Amino acid sequence: MEEKQLFGALKEYFGFDSFRPLQKKIIDAVFQGKDNVVIMPTGGGKSICYQLPGILLPNITLVISPLIALMKDQVDGLKVNGIAAAYLNSSQSETDQQEIIASVEKNELKLLYVAPESLQFVDRFLTDGKVSLIAIDEAHCISSWGHDFRPAYTQLGYLKKRFPSTPVIALTATADKATRKDICQQLNIPNAKIHVASFDRKNLSLEVRPGTKRLEQILQFTEGRKNESGIIYCLSRKNTEDVAAKLNANGIKAEAYHAGLSHVERSRIQEDFINDTQQIICATIAFGMGIDKSNIRWVIHYNMPKNLEGYYQEIGRAGRDGLPSETMLFHSYADVIQLQKFAANAKNEAVQMAKLDRMKQYSEALTCRRKILLSYFGELKKEDCGNCDICRNPPQFMDGTLIAQKALSCIYRLKGKEPITVLIDVLRGAQNEAVIGKGYQELSTYGVGKEISWRDWQLYIIQLINLGYVEIAFHLHNHLQLTPMAKDILFNGAKLELAKNLDQKEIKEEQSKA
Ligand code: ADP
Ligand code: ZN
Repeated sequence: MEEKQLFGALKEYFGFDSFRPLQKKIIDAVFQGKDNVVIMPTGGGKSICYQLPGILLPNITLVISPLIALMKDQVDGLKVNGIAAAYLNSSQSETDQQEIIASVEKNELKLLYVAPESLQFVDRFLTDGKVSLIAIDEAHCISSWGHDFRPAYTQLGYLKKRFPSTPVIALTATADKATRKDICQQLNIPNAKIHVASFDRKNLSLEVRPGTKRLEQILQFTEGRKNESGIIYCLSRKNTEDVAAKLNANGIKAEAYHAGLSHVERSRIQEDFINDTQQIICATIAFGMGIDKSNIRWVIHYNMPKNLEGYYQEIGRAGRDGLPSETMLFHSYADVIQLQKFAANAKNEAVQMAKLDRMKQYSEALTCRRKILLSYFGELKKEDCGNCDICRNPPQFMDGTLIAQKALSCIYRLKGKEPITVLIDVLRGAQNEAVIGKGYQELSTYGVGKEISWRDWQLYIIQLINLGYVEIAFHLHNHLQLTPMAKDILFNGAKLELAKNLDQKEIKEEQSKA
């Protein structure tokens, strides 16, 4: 594809003069006929990566999208820009469907949106040669490691078999390493090029506060922020209503939003929010998907989210215009316990539980929160961010090199095949079955950390995980494994600092209340 044509279409159909980082590279790879996996944060600009090729390629581009409710909006938006797009789903009349099929057969359409459930239907009238590109949006839904697994997505692997010469582009805003691998595997695109955009949203400040007197804290926070749009995320429908009612009673205009409201009411609230006639929404996570509002100035998590993917997606709704925006998370043990109950009842319990653990570790962190968050998405940063509560008000640190060396070399000796509990037992020279049964008392690192308490080891190791030296293999019984960064400490003489004698007072106090 010629550059001139590419930039011309970018301007003509989308009104942009330049591409965002990665967009151009991805689009080039699509035109080369490669399979691609795109991991880009919400608001990063994923859509153009398949819409622009879709417009320029000779035949139709199939877009698989999980949210029937959003399909119409997306397609309407494209049509306004003069792009021949349509959608097919089970909510349409047969006449409408026939009309779309007819236009596909006449090759009049450029982009066809379908829900995974409707694929069989599409299969009847599309052939390999007729499809230029297959785009799979929200691709993490295919993976049970992901946080939003949808059974209908599992059948998408068949697309590559059915349309072997058609390139596939899978896109998602949320994928840890395990999910990424799973996406390639399940979609049968083992050689896909993987593009990972930076997840760093520097304009979002990060803060975690103990979840005591939350309402008072929110009132104080909103006091200085009149005329700013913000979202308060709550765990339950009832929470959203309670918080909204209390805010209103205190003279702060707020509205509750959750899936229990009628469609009409939800639309109205969204409209009011987008048009700035309603500034504050207390919502469940149902709110925000597909809302394109660039000037949300703050996001508060009244309750702790289930996992870091969800958290990141939700705070990511703030500050899409790039201006400074604030995020605040309330950490409460009552929430953790509640979430543990949910996780225990989930189908993939172990995965949910492990993800919740990471969420908890983030909340209890003593090192730059952004580093932790980004390392979770596989982005390792050397510098602290300067825009999180820890960076602004840092805890006291000590030289933790020796401690780190002990822990990391012990993980190395355990061959990355044990969870944190066994690691600490070995470091502390425990004599239980998990240690002796496997002969770990023979390891050179056995008992090298006797002088450090169990609890302190736990906190140090969590710091090493959060700093990116160690990772938890969720798909392998939560075994601890070294990352490439661990080499710096083990072999290259690098030093590191760890927060010392961690003051857990505030959290403990709250724990006793929960
Ligand atoms: P995502 O799907 O990754 O959440 P979108 O594709 O919806 O992101 O894009 C997010 C916003 O960024 C949209 O408002 C879009 O118009 C805008 N955008 C995307 N690409 C560009 C670009 N190259 N230049 C300017 N704005 C862009
Ligand atoms: Zn920071």
